Amino acid sequence: MIAIHFDPANLDQEQKNWWTEWQLKSTAATDRVIDAFEGWMSGKPTKAFQFDFQNEVWKKLKDWLLEKIFHNKCAYCEREISGYYGDAEHYRPKGAVKFLAADGTFGEPQFQLFGKDGPSQTLQPHPGYFWLAYDWRNLIPACVYCNSGEGKNERFDLGNGRIHLVLVALGADKVVAMAVEERPRESKKWPGYYYLTPQLLDGRENPLLLNPLNPAPDRDPRKHIRFGVRGIAASVSGSPYGKNCIETFQLRNEKLRQKRQKAQETFRSEYYDALRRTNPEDMVHSEALVLLDQYNKGEYPFSAAALDYLDVMRRMEAVMLQQLAGEET
Ligand SMILES: [Zn+2]
Repeated sequence: MIAIHFDPANLDQEQKNWWTEWQLKSTAATDRVIDAFEGWMSGKPTKAFQFDFQNEVWKKLKDWLLEKIFHNKCAYCEREISGYYGDAEHYRPKGAVKFLAADGTFGEPQFQLFGKDGPSQTLQPHPGYFWLAYDWRNLIPACVYCNSGEGKNERFDLGNGRIHLVLVALGADKVVAMAVEERPRESKKWPGYYYLTPQLLDGRENPLLLNPLNPAPDRDPRKHIRFGVRGIAASVSGSPYGKNCIETFQLRNEKLRQKRQKAQETFRSEYYDALRRTNPEDMVHSEALVLLDQYNKGEYPFSAAALDYLDVMRRMEAVMLQQLAGEET
């Protein structure tokens, strides 16, 4: 997994038009699901909240993101995928949530239903982060292995003692002080309660799963997952975030390891070939630097594994040079 940085503010005019049009659809679809949820909760429900989401809205964005931003790769395991096979993975699950409990079984988080005057004592299974179903910050292109089957599905584990949130009380002054795009949506039926944005949720929930899209510096996937020689995946210093991702996405799967190893070998030969062609007096135009930059941006499958491999090779070279220097003195 490698960090992918994307800011819609930097799109060119043509892409910006497309983006604005998509945002309008996303906002309308979000309004519909929130209205449905608030209607459901006002009706003193006995059954879980169900909603018929408009898949075509996020599918459209997934195809666009996959091609333009995620380099036709699964954002989690970095294998190559074509648009047809890729899923629009909701980082925070949209329709139901489960988490791995301390005893190794999966649990369903609960939330407090709202009555006329706010939160009541009645509990229901968490409805999922339905208000983020069409939020681009929550849509991650992923392969079928990572998104379904034994992969992520509805799983979303949090750090110890944290609660999966739905509506949260916030002071209006606090909300007004936020940047416009960071402002949470206020409930229509329960003023003063808000559906939080991904960033606000991250701070309060402490998700154990790393998000490759615009991560905070201390959640950069490469600080938590390392790939050694032969593409072997390990968590950095036992990082709980690294561990959670390796387990959730089965990054130790043997076929995946083999693909990473192959990618490391390809990278090694391409990088050293480019280095050989580099003129030391013109580093700016160095093909090797261009290649490194592309890998740093995650443009190739298994970029993180390739870069980690380069670190290993450099450390080995340094040791060898030290030994040679030792022999000469
Ligand atoms: Zn994947």
